[in-house]
Amino acid sequence: MSKLNIVLFGPPGAGKGTQSEFLIKHYKLVHLSTGDLLRAEIKAESELGLQAKDLMDRGELVADAIVIGMIRNKMEAHLDAKGFIFDGFPRTRAQAEALDAMLEVKEEPITAMLALEVPEAELVKRLLDRGATSGRTDDKDEAVIQNRIREYMEKTAPLKEYYSAQGKYKAIDGVGSIEDITQRLMKALG
Ligand code: ADP
Repeated sequence: MSKLNIVLFGPPGAGKGTQSEFLIKHYKLVHLSTGDLLRAEIKAESELGLQAKDLMDRGELVADAIVIGMIRNKMEAHLDAKGFIFDGFPRTRAQAEALDAMLEVKEEPITAMLALEVPEAELVKRLLDRGATSGRTDDKDEAVIQNRIREYMEKTAPLKEYYSAQGKYKAIDGVGSIEDITQRLMKALG
């Protein structure tokens, strides 16, 4: 049976992490969130974490080579997975190309890119709300949030065209209850 490899896409605050939690359980997939992996490196005070921290605190993207290497390691550690949910990755064209190259070797291509769409004002509100409880420093400061959204618009949003060209891009309305949005995602997966 072919594997289910999903790119869960969307701007910061779109709900990728929240929706991943359900999808990994339902489809028995392995969750690969580069944001979570980077925060684990910071917590462990590793060399990589130290390098990433300043960029993350400013709301800028971490170098492609670093996140691609982390994804490669995790995929190799889960060779028997039924599939992966890529959450917060790829964020640049170089990352998308590297991911395709890694999956091509295994002959397990991306099944679909599900893009959660949420208006910008709603994103800022959600992130500031999350910042009040999550302890994530990059969610506390509105200037940092705006910078993350700007990085998304400039470097990440163009990936919609990359996946459209492969016939894999599916837009999902990301406003509504968590359950409603989950239903929309499952329907898109067929
Ligand atoms: P959110 O999508 O809510 O902003 P993430 O946890 O996905 O949160 O990302 C937090 C930060 O981690 C980003 O602002 C960026 O600095 C860094 N990061 C995460 N994933 C990547 C990636 N694929 N490429 C570059 N930087 C990344």
